[in-house]
Amino acid sequence: MSDPRKPIVAIDGPAGAGKSTVAREVARRLGLPYIDTGAMYRAIAWLAIRCGIDLDDAKELAWLATYTNLEFAGPPDKPQIYVNGYMPGEELRSPEVSQGASKVSAVPGVRKALTRQQQQLGRQRGCVMEGRDIGTVVFPDAKVKVFLTASPEERVKRRREEMEAKGQPCNPEELHQQLLERDRRDAERDVAPMKPAPNAVLIDTDGLSIPQVVDRIVALARRTAP
Ligand code: C5P
Repeated sequence: MSDPRKPIVAIDGPAGAGKSTVAREVARRLGLPYIDTGAMYRAIAWLAIRCGIDLDDAKELAWLATYTNLEFAGPPDKPQIYVNGYMPGEELRSPEVSQGASKVSAVPGVRKALTRQQQQLGRQRGCVMEGRDIGTVVFPDAKVKVFLTASPEERVKRRREEMEAKGQPCNPEELHQQLLERDRRDAERDVAPMKPAPNAVLIDTDGLSIPQVVDRIVALARRTAP
């Protein structure tokens, strides 16, 4: 059972639904650490690509996920992931790494290794954890479970704005295709597919502002206080 003094708020949903921005702000408001599990899958994909490991080689990838040291450090609202002591930063956000993360995350051995680390990290002090399977697999007894959605058009628009703000080149059609491809792979994989937990609160963020979504989750967390 989870410790009521160390609450877990699970935020799942597809790419571009606004999870990161929302989860960071919810964590700040509730005074909990923020943990981005997508960054962990991205880190393994990034390292595999750098090491020349075939992204279809399940055995090598499971080995890599088991023996790679992943740590979060930096400001609480914008923690950075360190991979064996090195910070890949924005490299983790490239289209190649995004697609790679979705591939490596379908490997059971990779999921097993990262799920275990996520459970250890989350249990230390409680947390707001975002991903695809937090409410279903990583913390099925989380105090609050939210599944954020948004229409594909809205999600592509948000991703595009995010990339443009960083000065990254972006082709909207390609982005749309990549986003849907990643969603399909994440939702259809055999192990821990992306789906709402049976008791998750579904929030469609189309037409809602970030503060509105944050307020709703914070209220939910406070209402379910032990
Ligand atoms: O959330 P983000 O887009 O950074 O995640 C990158 C990829 O990592 C996702 O497309 C998904 O394949 C994988 N992922 C996952 N389970 C999680 C978090 C992310 O499979 N809990």
